[in-house]
Amino acid sequence: MSGVRVYDQELLSIGLTLPGFVERSRVIASLPSLGLLTLAAHTPEHWEIEYREYDELPTDSADQICQQGFGVVAISALTARIDEAYALSAELRARGMLVILGGLHVSAMPDEAASHADIIVKGEGERAWAQLLSDLERGCHHSIYDSSVLAAESHFHQEHPVPRYDLLDLDRYNRLTLQTTRGCPLHCSFCAASRTISPYRKKSLLQVRRELEAILKLWPRPFIELADDNTFVDKRWSRELVALLSEYPLKWFTESDISLADDETLLKLLAKSGCAQVLIGLESAASESMTGLDTQGWKSRRHRDYAEKVRKIQDHGISVNGCFILGFDQDGPDIFARTLDYIESLQLAEVQITLLTPFPGTSLRQQLLEEGRFLPGVTWSQYTLFDLTFRPARMSEDAMRSGFHELMKSVYSEERVNARRKIFQTCIRQSRS
Ligand code: SF4
Repeated sequence: MSGVRVYDQELLSIGLTLPGFVERSRVIASLPSLGLLTLAAHTPEHWEIEYREYDELPTDSADQICQQGFGVVAISALTARIDEAYALSAELRARGMLVILGGLHVSAMPDEAASHADIIVKGEGERAWAQLLSDLERGCHHSIYDSSVLAAESHFHQEHPVPRYDLLDLDRYNRLTLQTTRGCPLHCSFCAASRTISPYRKKSLLQVRRELEAILKLWPRPFIELADDNTFVDKRWSRELVALLSEYPLKWFTESDISLADDETLLKLLAKSGCAQVLIGLESAASESMTGLDTQGWKSRRHRDYAEKVRKIQDHGISVNGCFILGFDQDGPDIFARTLDYIESLQLAEVQITLLTPFPGTSLRQQLLEEGRFLPGVTWSQYTLFDLTFRPARMSEDAMRSGFHELMKSVYSEERVNARRKIFQTCIRQSRS
């Protein structure tokens, strides 16, 4: 289950007409689940597998899946769609199917998920998968498979099966995902990705090459989105990675922190490698809102250099998609105007703005639970990044929502989207020259 549905009705109605917002939403909704393709690769050949996107299943999907004779259904969903995953699981189990649930939400909320499935997989699925399938074949499976209690071997670094991209209907996707690193050494309070599934680790470059070549066999000039949390943490390894990517005819996109700007050699390699854009979590226009954001205070110390660093990256021909979050405890009613001005001043090629969201597994969630600040009646399906889930510290809920709506309208207005497209085109020309 990929993509999300925004609940906030006003935002929903304005969002549908905002060009920049609609484009990025479409891209996110069309990314396949690399986790499931990886599990498929770790499945013995005598198992027959099909990969399905939930949104393309018919309304009577549970009946159809049962009629097609499948024995096991594995579902992966993020928080915003976990209730739909639980509902589908209930329908399938009522028809006698065995359902396995896994992914980030399930790993952070194992007790909740366990009550909605026959089996849950916590943490890195591929480490538990062979054992799980072998137990199923012997008819004696457990209800939880937890990769953290399995032997801490380092197979992520070594050679292992290539995700089964061949299971996808490629006409449906405008880009494919490939993972080169997992986790992140920074610990931002709102981010579960940095530690829930795995600590920070890098894949072997030989493995990256094998996966890339598997994609190229199916799609000769692909667009690849690296499914990494923070790709360029290790600069020396990153230079080798980017040199490898530049050997192939592809365009690609990834996520990084701002320290990318510190490595001139890496920037030059990136420009030559077909890197179309990097997404960077700049987090806030207000430096004071970044106090305590990550445990080391690393991001807030970098805030004063943002303008210089963004310019340096874009001058090398790599466009920056700057991400901003609204709703930090230090944010007052002036944060919306400050964010708009700041975005303009940075001359970013693309922008993403979201509301602070306390996902399971984060220290932010723990803090808000202790302070009793969750809004009544909020369900997981509202964890979309665009719906308000908790009481802001320095403004009313209505002020937060309406300020965010107005900011969305301004940031994604046709005029501003066109201005950013021109910056993007300049970056492309720069990288060609
Ligand atoms: S830098 Fe990005 S990936 Fe790393 S912890 Fe912060 S938000 Fe998560």
